[in-house]
Amino acid sequence: MDLWFNEWNTESCKLSIKVKEPIYSEKTPFQKIDFFDSYDFGKFFTLDGMMMVNEKDEFIYHDMIVHVPMAVNPNIKNVLVIGGGDGGTVRELTRYNDIEQIHMVEIDERVVRLCQKYLPITSSKLEDKRVTLYFKDGVEFVKSKENFYDLILVDSTDPIGPGEGLFTMSFYKDCYRALNGKGILINQHESPYFEEYRIEMLKAHGKLKKIFDVCEVYQFHMPTYSSGHWLFGFASKGLHPIEDHNAEKWESFDLKTKYYNSQIHQGAFMLPTYVRELLESV
Ligand code: SAM
Repeated sequence: MDLWFNEWNTESCKLSIKVKEPIYSEKTPFQKIDFFDSYDFGKFFTLDGMMMVNEKDEFIYHDMIVHVPMAVNPNIKNVLVIGGGDGGTVRELTRYNDIEQIHMVEIDERVVRLCQKYLPITSSKLEDKRVTLYFKDGVEFVKSKENFYDLILVDSTDPIGPGEGLFTMSFYKDCYRALNGKGILINQHESPYFEEYRIEMLKAHGKLKKIFDVCEVYQFHMPTYSSGHWLFGFASKGLHPIEDHNAEKWESFDLKTKYYNSQIHQGAFMLPTYVRELLESV
């Protein structure tokens, strides 16, 4: 009998992926983790029934969360990743020789250990000597930090369950304090298309706008996330993602990237009219 993974985007629209075989399933104190193998997306895992990472399109998300801020400030040395248990974000960061420290704070150690077992494509660099793993709540971790990080990447689940606190005003304020004078915060910004996600996008943007001097949003095309149209927030104490875009320096690193390039960088901040109007409304 055919086996399908279904993720409901709304009550009447779903993403459906034909599964070759279920690989592993576990309920942790934080969430339910499932690994599958599939025909079109290779191996993938879900948290509480939501697609997280698959072998085929993960490069898009991880290119866009990391290389956009790195091309704005190529001198970044200290990075904090909150969430990101699959390791894909850390993998892209470790490609920069000048980065000195990567702190990754993941609430659920089982996500990391299972990705190390079943998803080496993303988890392969978690043992890089510049990486320190903390198995803690990112909301608590960031409270004790001040004027330290050049970059904070919030690679989180949606604002339900353990990820809820990562979309709050107090968390964003703590991130602001934890960043140094040129610090950049990139955060999961949900999707503009379906209402349920759009509401979360607007709430996040409205809060960040009240705290950060620079507060922009950029888009990317993610086939397996709701509607395929997904956003990150770019918030900073001083650097602007377009005015301070240092394409020349970034290109001199000669990194081979499959999705990100200097033209995508510029284009990603040019939003469709309805998205721009929505963001201006908060
Ligand atoms: N790329 C993915 C996406 O947007 O669907 C997210 C990747 S990653 C798997 C998300 C991780 O955030 C999960 O492993 C989850 O355990 C972690 N997480 C959720 N809430 C957290 C919190 N409060 N502190 C630290 N990590 C958290």
